[in-house]
Amino acid sequence: MSHTYDVLCRECLRYVDLGKICNMDESGRPVPWLFGGWRDQETGKRIEGAHLWTLVERFLIVHRNHPLQMVSESYLEKTDRDDVWQPFESATEVLAVEPVPAPDDHEDSAEVQRRDRARGRGSQE
Ligand SMILES: [Zn+2]
Repeated sequence: MSHTYDVLCRECLRYVDLGKICNMDESGRPVPWLFGGWRDQETGKRIEGAHLWTLVERFLIVHRNHPLQMVSESYLEKTDRDDVWQPFESATEVLAVEPVPAPDDHEDSAEVQRRDRARGRGSQE
């Protein structure tokens, strides 16, 4: 049995689908654990493998410093009674979101430290 997982940004309330998590290929042969991807609602084509990870990378870059969590689809369904969580429906939609502000090691570190202090988690530096 396999289940679908997503990466959820709890700050922006957006998530990107990873697809079903599985350790067997379509013929039932064992493979290393992987995500099966999802169907692009714009093109109708399956997004998987390297293409899937290009989208996940963009999502991670855009939402860096934000509270991210990998969650099962059943969690999203159970907790989205008011349509809070917003999925991406296509690769075009994921790639259209630019990281703002642009990645900057020093600024990103400072931002995480600000967030840690706001949550009462003191930083050692
Ligand atoms: Zn975010």
